[in-house]
Formats: sequence, structure tokens, C-alpha cells
Amino acid sequence: MKKNAFLTRIILLIIVAIMLSAVITTIIYGEVANNVYSQLVSKDLAPRARYFAKLMTKYLNEEISAEILQDMLSDTSVLGAKVHLYDAQGKVLGEIQTTDIFSNSENNNSDDGSQENYVILLGESITSVMKGKEVEESVHSDTTGYDYLVVGIPVYMNNKAVAAVIFTKPIREVNESMFMLNRTLVLSMLFSLLIMLLPSYLAARRMMRPINRMRDIALAMAEGDYSVRADDERSGELGQLASAFNYLATRLSETISWLEIERNRLRRTLDGLNEGIVAVDAKGIITHTNPAILRMFGHDANTVLDERLQIIDDESVWDDFDQAIENKCAMQRSVNRDNMVLRIAITPLEDEEGRIVGAVGLFRDITESERLERMQRDYVANVSHELRTPVTGVRGLAEALHDGVVKSEQDKQRYYGYILRETLRLSRLIDDLLELSRLQSGTIAVDKREVSICSLIKELGDRYKIMTDEVGLKFSIDLDIENCPKVFSNSDRVEQVLVILLDNAIKYTDEAGKITIGATWNNENVFVFVKDEGVGISKQDLPYLFNRFYKSDKSHTGGGTGLGLSIARELLSMMGETIWVESEVAKGSTFTFTLKRFES
Ligand code: ADP
Repeated sequence: MKKNAFLTRIILLIIVAIMLSAVITTIIYGEVANNVYSQLVSKDLAPRARYFAKLMTKYLNEEISAEILQDMLSDTSVLGAKVHLYDAQGKVLGEIQTTDIFSNSENNNSDDGSQENYVILLGESITSVMKGKEVEESVHSDTTGYDYLVVGIPVYMNNKAVAAVIFTKPIREVNESMFMLNRTLVLSMLFSLLIMLLPSYLAARRMMRPINRMRDIALAMAEGDYSVRADDERSGELGQLASAFNYLATRLSETISWLEIERNRLRRTLDGLNEGIVAVDAKGIITHTNPAILRMFGHDANTVLDERLQIIDDESVWDDFDQAIENKCAMQRSVNRDNMVLRIAITPLEDEEGRIVGAVGLFRDITESERLERMQRDYVANVSHELRTPVTGVRGLAEALHDGVVKSEQDKQRYYGYILRETLRLSRLIDDLLELSRLQSGTIAVDKREVSICSLIKELGDRYKIMTDEVGLKFSIDLDIENCPKVFSNSDRVEQVLVILLDNAIKYTDEAGKITIGATWNNENVFVFVKDEGVGISKQDLPYLFNRFYKSDKSHTGGGTGLGLSIARELLSMMGETIWVESEVAKGSTFTFTLKRFES
């Protein structure tokens, strides 16, 4: 029903228009026809009344006899009117008998009422006629309820109006003819309505078709289909509307595809970020998340989550979002999650009019930068500490010697020995620090060439065997020298690394332990290892072992600087190699590093 509202309305309008025109025609016609009919009738009656009056005048002046008068009157048609004769006082002189009157006498009597009534009815007309005026007017009778047409003509005797001939004719016939006319009009209206109904229905439907089509197109466009087009071949306004519609569809499709491209580009950019992004609308409902945020909070990057606490199960973060929106201010906070430190910056989003439309949160994983910062702080503290220890020792010893507190030559020699040892430690520390910073500055070029790694290991091993024999440690070299491949490396740097590892192995292995140096290989690499059966390293220490100043012996009392392994790793990484350690407390450690095989 609603679908065809327009059609129904058009048909209703047509029906109303036809009915209205019929009603207006009836009313206008009723008004006009009444007058026209009255005028026509009175125009017909007036000459007859004049003729009657003339005959009467002639009779009164005795120019004609009563018989002749009677004959002449009888021969004259009065067109269904009733003819009355009144004297100057309005007294009825008689009714003139005519053929018409006789033939309609029955009707006339029943319709017109008594003579007295006529006198009352025609009183004013008679007075006017007696004054010598000819009267043509319509009069309403309350008794019969009809309108009458009255034509009055004076009768003169000796040039003086002595009587009045009055023709009265009820206008009822006019009303009857009006009724007939109205009935005809209504019938013709109904008929024309019936005739018009089908063509107007078809015409309206034809008109509706392109409009309906345009409605369907608008709906299709609302659903995202911009390929639909209206029929713009039509002429006139509908054709113009259709082509405007098609132009709208084209522009809309262009704009939307442009917006889509832009949105995809933005989405790809956001999705590619390492930083987590969460955008919310003004009500705090999530509108966008990127894979990084999902990963940060332990979800699969492809999961679809839209509940706030499902994504970030930390109420305080969402409180910050709400506050940023409510107070129009940026919020910052750091959150510790598992082993991660996240820095969160939430910024409210405003539209062109400055209204808050949402907020966007940027989540940065600052674990690494925090760690580096901490390392830097630790480095400064460690360097100060490592420097202070020998300096304080030397100072104390020197002060004691200077103040003469140490008296005996033997004690003095012992003190000098301490000072020398501390000074050596200090200079070793400074050398190590300088070496490390040189390596880390990246200014040192490492010259790589063909190196007989097994010869190098053998030579170094032999040297260390003598040293370990002296301190009672077992030492062995594990090598298949004959099949040993050459490596592409720098022999000095490799030796430097091996010395660090062998020194440590000796340092952290007691007399019962054994130290082994050797190498294995595959098609690409040679794996050089230094194995000991010393104190071993706890699992907690292993990840940090190659950091600067890291000592698993927390008391820092040993002679080491905590820089040896850092230097070793730095040297190897400069050559593109890696180093790792496997260790178990009280069982020993194995340090292994790679060297690329030489390809001839
Ligand atoms: P240091 O000069 O203190 O030896 P390193 O950087 O060479 O400094 O070593 C760092 C720390 O690693 C040492 O303090 C020690 O605790 C541990 N370490 C190194 N090598 C060994 C090993 N072979 N056995 C046990 N612990 C070791």
C-alpha cells in the first residue's frame, strides 16, 4: 500500500478533480441557468402580457366588445402562466380564461393556492404596475414554497392605469430542469470517471516506473552497488532527473573508491607499524586496532576482538582513554606487562569545530630502550666502581707508606707488591675499556684472510698446556688436524678471543677440572670451542654473560673486569660470527664460536 502511495494519490487527485469540476459546474450552472431561464420566460411572457393589457384597454375604452375580447384572449397562448386582473386597489377583477389556463386549471389550482394568497404575494408588484411600471420579477411564496415569475403590465383607461394584468408562472419547472441537469451531470461525471480511471492509472504507472527505478538505484547505492544506472534516454524532467542521478552515482562511486583507497593505505600503514594503535570514538567504543597492539597484549594478530577488556585487560588504560576524551587532554603512562615495558600516549581527537570525536592511543614497547638506558646507568656505575676499587687500594697503601706507618722493609716490599698488582689491574681495566669502546665505535677494520684455524688452536693450546701444567690443571686439544678446513677470518682477532676464553676457563676451574680446546665443522662453518669442568654458570646469568661488566660472581672480588666476554662477542660480531655458551653449575661450561670456512 505504502509502496504505491504516489500512484494512489495521483488517481485520487484525478477523481477529486473530476468530482470538483462536476460540483462547480452544477453550482455555477444552477446560478446562471436560473437567471437565464427566468429572463427567457419573462421575455416570452412580457409581449403576451402587453397584448392582454392592450386588449383590456381597448375593451375598457369600449373599442372592442366583451365577446371579441374573450375570443382574442382565448386564442392567445400564455405559455402555462396564470393570468390575473387586478383593479387599482388591488382587488381581483377576475381571472382571464385562456385555453392554456383551462387546460392547466387543475394543476394551477392545486399549485397556486387561493386568490387571497395571490393578492398578498403580488401586492408589491400590483402597486408598481398601478403606478404605470412594467414589472418583471421573481417572487417567493411561503405558502407553496415555490418561486414565481411575475410579469405585470398596466391597463390604461383615458391614459390612466386603472388595472393590472399579471402573469405568474412557477419557476418550479426551472428547478425540475435543474434537477434533471444535475442528475445528468453526476451521471456524466461518473461515466467520465470510469473512462478516465484506466488511462490515468496507466499514465500514472508509466510515470512511476522511472521514479521506482530511481528509488531502486538509490537503495542499491546505499547497499554499496554504484554500477547501477537510471534510464536517462527519456525526455523531459524525468530524463534530466535520471541523468542527474547517474552523475551523482558516478561521482559517489569515484569519491567512495578514492576514500576506500585512502582508508586502505592508512590501514596498511597502521597495520605495518611496530607501535600498537587503538582508536576509540567519543563514547570510548573501539573503532580501530592494529596487529601490533594485539601482539603486545598476547593475542593472535589476526583475531577479531572489539571488547575493550578483551583486548587490553587493564582497566587503568581504559580509564586514561575516558579521561582524555572527557578532559580533552593527552594522557601518558607506562605499563609493565610480563617482561615488557609499554609506554602509552593517548591523544584526544577533535573535529574541525573542536568537538571531541574520540581518542587514539599509541603503545610503544620501550623494553629495549629501557634496558639500554639501564645498561648505560649500570655501565657508568660499574666503570666508577671498577676504577674506584684499585684507586682506593693504591691510595690506602701509598698513604700508609707515606705516613711511615709501614716500618719494616719486608712490609714495605709487600705493600709495593700490592700497589703494583692494583695498578696492573687498573691498567688492564683501562685497556679493556678502551678496546671495547674502540670495537663498539665501529672504526676498526678487520682484515680477513685464509687462516689455518687448527694450526692456530694447536699452537695456542700447546702454550696453554705448559701454563696449566704449572697450576696442576688438565688440558687437552681435541682436533682432527689432518682434515681440518681453513677459515676466512683474522688470526689475531681469533687468537684474542681464544685467549679471553682460555683465561676464563683457567680462572673458573679448580685443580680437579679439565680444560679442552678444539674445533668441529660442517660444510659452511668451523665451530671452535673451549670447554672446562669448572664452577659453571647459573641459568639466570647465562643471558647476560656477554654484557659489559657482567659478573656471575656478584661479589666482584675476582680479578676479572667483566669486560672479557663483551670484547670477545664484539670482535666476533665484527667478523660476522656468533658466540654462545652452554653451562651447568658445578659441572662446567663450553663456549663455542663460529668461523666461516674458506672457499677456494
Ligand atoms: P671477567 O674478567 O670477570 O672474567 P668476563 O667478561 O670474561 O669477565 O666474564 C664475565 C663473567 O662470566 C665472569 O665474571 C664469570 O662470572 C663468568 N664466566 C666467564 N667465563 C666463565 C667460565 N669459563 N666458567 C664460569 N664462569 C665464567
